[in-house]
Amino acid sequence: MTTTRTRTRFAPSPTGFIHLGNIRSALYPWAFARSTGGDFILRIEDTDLERSTQAAVDVIIEGMAWLGLDHDEGPFYQMQRMDRYKAVLADMQAQGLVYPCYMSVAELDALRERQMAAKEKPRYDGTWRPEPGKTLPPVPDGVQPVLRFKNPVGGVVAWDDKVKGRIEIRNDELDDLVIARPDGTPTYNFCVVVDDIDMAITHVIRGDDHVNNTPRQINIFRALGKEPPVYAHLPTVLNEQGEKMSKRNGAKPVTQYRDEGYLPDAMVNYLARLGWSHGDDEIFSRAQFLEWFDLDHLGRSAAQFDEAKLRWVNAQHLKAMADDQLAPLVAAQLAQRGITADARLPAICGLFKDRCDTTVALAGWAAAFYAPVTIAEADRAQHLTDAVRPAIASLAERLAGLSAWDKPSIAAAIKEVLSQHGLKMPALAMPVRVLVMGTPQTPSLDAVLALFSPETVQERLRNA
Ligand code: GLU
Repeated sequence: MTTTRTRTRFAPSPTGFIHLGNIRSALYPWAFARSTGGDFILRIEDTDLERSTQAAVDVIIEGMAWLGLDHDEGPFYQMQRMDRYKAVLADMQAQGLVYPCYMSVAELDALRERQMAAKEKPRYDGTWRPEPGKTLPPVPDGVQPVLRFKNPVGGVVAWDDKVKGRIEIRNDELDDLVIARPDGTPTYNFCVVVDDIDMAITHVIRGDDHVNNTPRQINIFRALGKEPPVYAHLPTVLNEQGEKMSKRNGAKPVTQYRDEGYLPDAMVNYLARLGWSHGDDEIFSRAQFLEWFDLDHLGRSAAQFDEAKLRWVNAQHLKAMADDQLAPLVAAQLAQRGITADARLPAICGLFKDRCDTTVALAGWAAAFYAPVTIAEADRAQHLTDAVRPAIASLAERLAGLSAWDKPSIAAAIKEVLSQHGLKMPALAMPVRVLVMGTPQTPSLDAVLALFSPETVQERLRNA
């Protein structure tokens, strides 16, 4: 048996900032290529000149790089392939696979109105389609024709969709598609087919908003003497309100999740589950995902985005991540706040990551080690009472006398102060945390203090 090398593609239109719903259509073909040892191709479908922007292309490329969805070929830009499309068109024209249609917009409108009035589906009526023995109308003067594809008459177009199962469309339902505009520029469905052929795509994994295009594309494939690829049409991603996720109703650009402190592997994990499953596994690594991914377990119904769930998945990955891998990401967040971190950062990450769901939250904790803290009035009033001040002063004194600045020595000093003043741990620890970290809730005090310099601790304790 010969097996063809898998080739998949992601073919976004850069007409808006790419959001999580779109990027999932990159994740699956990428994962399928990686898990089958094939190639993943990036193709930018930028033929809608009015709506395409470079900024949107940048977000696609940046977002994919951030998520680690690396491509083997491309990015190819459709606008740079116009000559190729035109050459294929000319070829098709020479073979009689397409024909010029001179019907004006006004005539088309009138046709549509008649059909609607007769309760028929609006469709092109084949006026200019050449047939043996048929006389075509006289070519009007000064009209640039469109080119229409000669759709097969009779029979069905069918495919076994990896998500939706078998789909069959009767050819009578498809009219002759315009594949070149009067100025000769090719239209969308045609470019996609030429690209998928030229790029030798074996599996088209895309959003199900393209299901209606598929039978037309399959007919064009066959007219060009090629067999169509395998199709998998992914159900829509809904936002939290149950609407189709889109920029218009508040979807964020993918890169915003990076800025909000999400980890690429957590995003991959979350997006993977948004329309695909591996038993009940909720948390998995990138490597496990690639080992498990297949097209047989894609979900058939729309998936709904849930930010709380995403945060939870992120928190699980954050906890599991090695401190020295986490530190550079937190350092980047700190840099946003104008803070330069140092060698203590991995240990700080280790101490605080369990209580954080994003690297932004973690940077919030880490900041206390690098910049002065603000103490809320309410905390000051509640925790920094006259009753505890003498104990704080004793602690400062004992800490100043330590010969080693480490967790056990600090723990011993705290213990001595507690017994000297007859206090329970929280009575001393809460006010000291407020002074040093700006909040009464932190991991164990000795561990926290050990990560500060003795000088900073002295300085902050003097604020009592
Ligand atoms: N450019 C299309 C889109 O962004 C995708 C086309 C395809 O995957 O075939 O929706």
